[in-house]
Parts: sequence; C-alpha cells; structure tokens
Amino acid sequence: MSPSFKNDNPDNWFLPENVRKQLTETFKKLTGKVTLEVFTEDGVNDEFGEYTVKFCSDLSRLTNLITVKEFDIPSGRADELGVESSPTLCINPDDYHIRFLGAPLGEEGKSFITAIMLSSQRKSELSNISKPLLDKLEGGRLVQVFVSPSCPYCPGQVMNAIKCAIEKPTLVHAECVEMNENPELTDRFEVGSVPHTVFNGGTHTALGLMPEERFVVEMVYLKSADQLLKEDALPGMDGKKPPAHYGTIEPGEVDLVIVGAGPAGLTAGIYAVRAGLKAVVLEKSIVGGQVSLTPVVENYPGFATVPGKQLMEIMSEHAREYVPVNEGEGVDSIEPGETFTVTTNRGSYSTKGIILTTGAVYRKLGAAGEDRYFGRGINYCASCDGYIYKNKKVAIIGGGNTALTDALHLKNLGVDVTIIHRRDSFRAQKPLQDSVAHQQIRIIWNTEVDEIQGDERHVNNLRLHNIKDDTVTDLPVDGAFVAIGQKASTELAKALGVELGDDGFVKVDSAMRTNIPRVYAAGDLIGGLQQIVTAIGEGSIAAMSAFEDISNPYWKK
Ligand code: NAP
Repeated sequence: MSPSFKNDNPDNWFLPENVRKQLTETFKKLTGKVTLEVFTEDGVNDEFGEYTVKFCSDLSRLTNLITVKEFDIPSGRADELGVESSPTLCINPDDYHIRFLGAPLGEEGKSFITAIMLSSQRKSELSNISKPLLDKLEGGRLVQVFVSPSCPYCPGQVMNAIKCAIEKPTLVHAECVEMNENPELTDRFEVGSVPHTVFNGGTHTALGLMPEERFVVEMVYLKSADQLLKEDALPGMDGKKPPAHYGTIEPGEVDLVIVGAGPAGLTAGIYAVRAGLKAVVLEKSIVGGQVSLTPVVENYPGFATVPGKQLMEIMSEHAREYVPVNEGEGVDSIEPGETFTVTTNRGSYSTKGIILTTGAVYRKLGAAGEDRYFGRGINYCASCDGYIYKNKKVAIIGGGNTALTDALHLKNLGVDVTIIHRRDSFRAQKPLQDSVAHQQIRIIWNTEVDEIQGDERHVNNLRLHNIKDDTVTDLPVDGAFVAIGQKASTELAKALGVELGDDGFVKVDSAMRTNIPRVYAAGDLIGGLQQIVTAIGEGSIAAMSAFEDISNPYWKK
C-alpha cells in the first residue's frame, strides 16, 4: 500500500454524481486544510477498507483542501496513533482525536462530513449552554459511540462527541464505532441497541440519542443526568443545586411554538410562516418522528417507495426554508397565561400559541423479562438495531404495518425472522401481507409472548402461549422486536390541562383546536388514521387555525 493515495482517473468515481455535486457545494464552506488518514489491515474487513479508501479519495478530488493519506496496520504511524481496528479513519489527527472505526458509509456518513467541516473551520458549534458546562471538565475522556448504518439517531450522538472533541481537543477523544465491523469491541461493551455510548472504557454508559447539553453533563461527571439531579449538588457547580434545565434562559418572543418535528410539526411550520407568523419548531430528538424509523414507505403519494428517513429529510429541508427547526431542544414545561412561556433545555420562549405534535412512543408488551433484556435482545427499532441480528434468529411481535414492515426489513438484512401475532389474521395493509407471504416469513398465529427468557447477558428464549389451544411452547431466539403499536406522548398536553379522549389521545375539533384557547394538536398525538398524509393535513389545519386566532385576519372578522 502506498503512503499517499490519489485516484486521478476521471471516470473512476466511487460516489454517485448527485452526491458529488452536493458535497462540492458543501465543501465550498471549508476554510482550513483537512487531512484524512486511512488505516487498513490486509485480511480484516477488506471490502470496507476498500470502500473507505475510495470514498476518501473521491472527497480529496472534490476540493484541494482535503488530503488523504493511507497507512497499513501495523505501521509506524498506526503505532504512533494507537490505531488497531481496520478500517480506521482519523480526521486531522495532529490536532484532534476524531476517529471513525469502520467505513462511514451509512447514516454516520453525515457525521463524518460534518466533522470534516467543523475541523476545517476549527469550531465546535456547541451551544452557549454546553460550552460553560464543558469548561468544568478536568480529566481526559474517551467517548466511543457505537452505531449501525441505518440508525437515524446515531449521527446526532456521534456529533455530540465530535463537537466536544473539537472544543476540547486535548481532553476529549471521540470515536464512532461501526458495530458490525468491530465485533470484538461490540461484544466487549455488550452493545445490544444503538446508539450506545461508552465513556472512558465503561466508567459510564448511555443508551440512545441525548440532547447535546445532557450529553456534555454526563460526559463531564460520568453519571446519568437523572442521577445528578437527584443528588444535592453537581460537583463543580459551587455547591449549588442545578436548575431543572442546564444553562441560562434567553427569552425569545414568537407567535407560535410547534412542539415536535414529525410530518405534522414540519408542515405546521411551513404553513404558519407562510401565513406570516413568527414560528419555531422544537424537537427534543431528531426530525421525522416515527417515520424516520420506518425502513420503507410505500403509500406517500408521489413516491412509489422511499425510505422513511429520506422522506423526512426532504420534508425537513423544505420546512427549514421557512421555519427554524431546533433539533435536540426538548420542552420541559409550558406555563399558561396571556402569552405562554415555553421552557426548554436551551432557554425559554414567550409565545401567543402552541401546536402540540409530540407524536407517539412505542408501546411495551408488558411481558416478564421485557425491561430486564431491553438492549440485550429486546428492541423496538428495527431500522436502528436490525444489523445486530444478521444471520441470527429473531421474533417480531405484532400484526400491524410496523411489524410487517420491520419483518421485511430484517429479512432483507439476512435475519431469520418469525412473526408472532395474537390473532389468525393481520391488520397490516394487503401489499405488506403479500410481501411477507412472498418472502416466506414464518408466522406463529394466535400466540402471545408470556415471558422473555435469557441468561445473565442476553435473551435466548421466548415462552409462548397459544391462546386457541392453551398450549405453552418455547421459541429459542437471539432477540425480539416489539412492534405492537404506539401510545400518544401526552405529558405536555396533560400538564397544560388539555383534554384527552377515552382512548388516551388528545381531543381536538375539526380545526385541530384543543379545549385550551390557542393550543392546537395534530399528528399521532390525536389518534385517528395515523398516516403521514393525515399528519400533514392536520398540521396544516392546525397552523391555519393558529393564524386565524392569533392574527385575526379581516376575512374572519
Ligand atoms: P397498530 O396498527 O396499532 O398495530 C399493532 C399490532 O400489535 C396489532 O396487530 C395488535 O394486535 C398488536 N398488539 C397490540 N397490543 C398487543 C399486545 N399487548 N400483545 C400482542 N400484540 C399486540 O400499530 P403499528 O403497526 O405500529 O402502526 C401504528 C400506526 O402507524 C398505524 O396507523 C399504521 O397504519 C401506521 N404505520 C403505517 C405504515 C405504512 O403505512 N407504511 C408503517 C408503519 C406504521 P391486534 O391486531 O390484535 O389488535
């Protein structure tokens, strides 16, 4: 292998033309040089090593500011940097410890490109709340974020680590670990769902995507933020009890706060701003809501088939042309009044109206062992965690659109799938049922899961109960995905005094108004058909009602 790599053949591109065009535009904002060092070892993940080299070579051909250097493992440079996994990609390794262990060709590719941009510009883009929190860090931190290629939550968590590594280069080391290409590390840290973040080799571990400020707090104190809040004082905070939110509140005045950035919230944002309202969309996690977790959507008009994540990216890009969409900004409380005060983890907003589009969260099965084995064989997101079970045996519990879509996705990844359903027919749409039959996915009908069993570390068996003949059987599995529907996320609505129906969903009239003046609701939160298209319709209606109530236009007088 040569120590420096250059592919000068003009026809020999790895990246498709549209991606190259997009990256060329992005790279116009590079301000300083970026060196990418790629380390590979013959005989280890060869295919991924080759992809990484070709990918980086393309990047260096798109801009003069990116240089790629190739090294073997072992080699003097690999020893110097302590690189052992193949492939490993280091970004500006003389200045930062920002590494991708595994080819960054899935969702984490976005974090890789963002990391290139930030390290070139030498700025972390951490919020004004995170920076002073990070200033309290005294010791070194190695942050390893385990990811899978199709996990929509992973890039956000990887960026949390990378931003800290840019802000504090001598103290914070950030590594994005692609779990399939690093089985030894994945096993060592018992990674069972992603993103899975390991601080300082396991001193503290966190599951899932965290808001940036929470990530920083947990990294600094190596404890969960919930645990820290229970304690009398945060170390390093001068003995004072921390506020419920981390940081100072910066007031902002808007006409409308939209809580949640799924299809309903994003659409409401577009319609509200186009109607002339000053609005903001606040999203505690990632844009897209449940749709981002749907491997494939086949019933959104205009797209015969489109990955849910991609559809939501297109939608959020459109929305951002009109309205600020603040990812990682969760609403802690809403105070009613002449104007509402919405307090988030970043500050507070004074607003004339609120649209709640907080969506729904997965429903738990309630079977014995479910909580014990969460992240150790029990999963709820097939897009995120499906890769863990390649060539393994998995059960999917449920009979709706989610269960069947997930079953098809897993089958496609090479997972040995069995669907367990409590009836003798599915409620999922006919084309999904046909595909499941066509793919010869095994189905166990009329059956409930009584108990999830396993050893110290992991699930290994499901105890099944046939409700027709009352027999009990065992199904040995490596894991199970629970896909039995969602329940509305009504905490904020309830705290505001919004009325719920008997079904637990928020009650609205046909104009999406709740019982509280200038509070509206839309999307999965209000139940009904719960489709992307209905959420979009409801979001637009809610925004127009808000406009009418807040602006009182002449044609309504
Ligand atoms: P769902 O339609 O409510 O289906 C839930 C399934 O889980 C049902 O088959 C139900 O059985 C079963 N179930 C519920 N509780 C159970 C329990 N305790 N034990 C065992 N099984 C249980 O939920 P979903 O599939 O998550 O879909 C939610 C919404 O999103 C729906 O409106 C759906 O159409 C939409 N969605 C659409 C798409 C798409 O169009 N591409 C994809 C995903 C989701 P029963 O049938 O016996 O009640």
